Amino acid sequence: MIDDETFLLASRALRGLDHSSFKSHQLRFRSSRPFVRSSRKEPVHGCSRVSDGCTNCYAERISRQYGHTDHEWTNEFASENVTVRPDKLEEPYGLHEPTRVFVNSMSDLFHSEVPEEFIREVFSVIRNCPEHIFQILTKRPGRAAHLPLEWPANVWMGTSVEDDRVTARIDMLSDVDAHTRFVSFEPLIGPVGEVDLSGIDWAIVGGESEPDDIRREMDHAWAREIYRQCREKDVAFFQTVECATAGTRTATHSQERRVRRLRATEDPGTARSSGDDHSHPKGDR
Ligand code: SF4
Repeated sequence: MIDDETFLLASRALRGLDHSSFKSHQLRFRSSRPFVRSSRKEPVHGCSRVSDGCTNCYAERISRQYGHTDHEWTNEFASENVTVRPDKLEEPYGLHEPTRVFVNSMSDLFHSEVPEEFIREVFSVIRNCPEHIFQILTKRPGRAAHLPLEWPANVWMGTSVEDDRVTARIDMLSDVDAHTRFVSFEPLIGPVGEVDLSGIDWAIVGGESEPDDIRREMDHAWAREIYRQCREKDVAFFQTVECATAGTRTATHSQERRVRRLRATEDPGTARSSGDDHSHPKGDR
């Protein structure tokens, strides 16, 4: 495994950044051990759909399948479906190695039904665990930006953008006072057009990982357009699900090969990850 000094050098080279422009918070993550684990912690359960990116939300499907929520995840039932779990707040204290923690894979921490005080408690635990990175993904970055929160340096704050109808979320994310910001273009169901990636550290792009009968296919041209913009702004790029199966692919073979060549497994901490399946937050929930 590489040490942190090597990680920093590799990351700077990867992103073409010089020492002075490399974010100070990343320097603060120096430790004697790399991030060897990934984990999910679920202090909130349940949500309500907010845009077309939610149509095939796996969290809703799993939650209802196992009887954790009885009703559709619509606004009408949000107050019943969204529940906070104080008993799970302190679970990160049980992590004994530096870990990347995906906070709330089954909900959205910034849902309006989650009390501000509870969000503060989540942040308090995060602040008490500087050895871990906490990745938070929301489709409600406006609330995240407007809440008067002190953002711990070990939060990677992200928003999901599925097409050009919701790119305003990127601007809202830029207003969030987090040290590391990322955009999850998952599930990418349409082109996003020209977007302002200033202040964004990381972009994740992926198609919908659903069965053929409900999956909305990603056109590789949309992914390449995002990749180009990432290169122009020195934003790390990570592609997940290609979503172009035989017979249904939207890209030609040569286009597909081109995307494969373009694909880069970059993120602000790639070199620290074990590369397991939870090393990036899953955006199509
Ligand atoms: S995709 Fe995310 S925001 Fe949408 S309903 Fe599911 S958990 Fe909520």
